[in-house]
Amino acid sequence: MEEVRVFPLTCAVQNYAWGKIGLDSEVAKLVVGGDPLAVVEEGKPYAELWMGAHPKGDAQIKDNRIAQTTLGQWIAHFPACLGSKVKDTFQGQLPFLFKVLSVNTALSIQAHPNRELAARLHAQFPEHYPDNNHKPEMAIALTCFQGLCGFRPVEEILGFLKSVPEFRALVGNEAADELQSSRGDAVQTGQVLKKCFTRMMNCEKKVFVDQLNMLVKRVTEEEIFKTNSEKDTGAAGKDTSSSNGDLLLRLHSQYPGDIGCFSIYFLNHMVLDPGQAMFLGANEPHAYLYGDCIECMACSDNTVRAGLTPKYIDVNTLCEMLNYSPAPSSSKIFPSVQDASDPCVSLYDPPVPDFTVMRIQVPASVKQYTVAPVDSASIILVIEGDAMATSAAALSDVTLRRGTVLFVSANESVSLHITSPSGMTMFRACCLL
Ligand SMILES: [Zn+2]
Repeated sequence: MEEVRVFPLTCAVQNYAWGKIGLDSEVAKLVVGGDPLAVVEEGKPYAELWMGAHPKGDAQIKDNRIAQTTLGQWIAHFPACLGSKVKDTFQGQLPFLFKVLSVNTALSIQAHPNRELAARLHAQFPEHYPDNNHKPEMAIALTCFQGLCGFRPVEEILGFLKSVPEFRALVGNEAADELQSSRGDAVQTGQVLKKCFTRMMNCEKKVFVDQLNMLVKRVTEEEIFKTNSEKDTGAAGKDTSSSNGDLLLRLHSQYPGDIGCFSIYFLNHMVLDPGQAMFLGANEPHAYLYGDCIECMACSDNTVRAGLTPKYIDVNTLCEMLNYSPAPSSSKIFPSVQDASDPCVSLYDPPVPDFTVMRIQVPASVKQYTVAPVDSASIILVIEGDAMATSAAALSDVTLRRGTVLFVSANESVSLHITSPSGMTMFRACCLL
């Protein structure tokens, strides 16, 4: 059976509580698109679709003529499918996990260690850090996608320290003044920013809960005033943007009394349009807040959390490890580049070896399209469009439609005969060494 090197997958769904509900979820829509017999339960969250060979969600091979039932088992039998470089570099493992996420309520503010720190943390605290690998991640918006990413420019943080006294109380006047006077000296700014963030994160719970309640009460009153004055006069009422009021109230309703609610004054609020991406390298503080995205990551579970979570928070490790380089939100959007050899392909190629994501957009005028071979195993997800896929390495033709997931071994090509009138959109994860 070794000649079968291209086949469809049935992928694992994770029903985490933060996921979008029922068919509001892109994950659920893709699942029923790929398998009309799949049952989506109303009222149940559909948070993540895992396309890969991770032991907690190993994809099923959707062809019972193949002896192995999961992708992980199949790769263990035929590691050559990875491509020789990938197989050697990553010890016969698929180096990435490809996902779709549908986020309804915020996920914890977090950062991921680099390889060196991951190894140290895993050795010291294996109960919190389950492996010794780094975990770079990339998120590409499928719908308008909101998140937090990286420290804001200092001017913005100083603005909040001025207009949000409850935030200033947690940072302290001394550190806040130091931040003000450190402007212009990048090294010093980074050090003082670390001091400011660390002081806030180390506040006693009673102190920050009191401040948070005061802030929420104040912003709520301002919002009511805003709504009423709009109703009465048509004029804009009190603007709460100087305290990031809408986002604060939203996060507080999801995580009341959580220190993470204050992190919005330190971190950039990202709003990505479909196709825009953020890359989360080592030590970059981030959180996903709302929306649907494609995600690709190195195979690891190492996460250091900072708030918006009931899970374990390792404040010391977190405050020590973070990247304290302030930068505008625009600089956190990761650019894609057009593939020089194929105008249909946009490459999202992060500065890590573990993965690359391609967005393949075939225009309506093109009816025959070849998915080019790469020297890596790859996983393809169809977002839009219909086609008949033919490959010398497949047992039979495969019908592609919204939600179909296809595994393609290294150096195999797939020919598509496109039948939908409006073209096709696909995402492909692979490892280009
Ligand atoms: Zn993350």
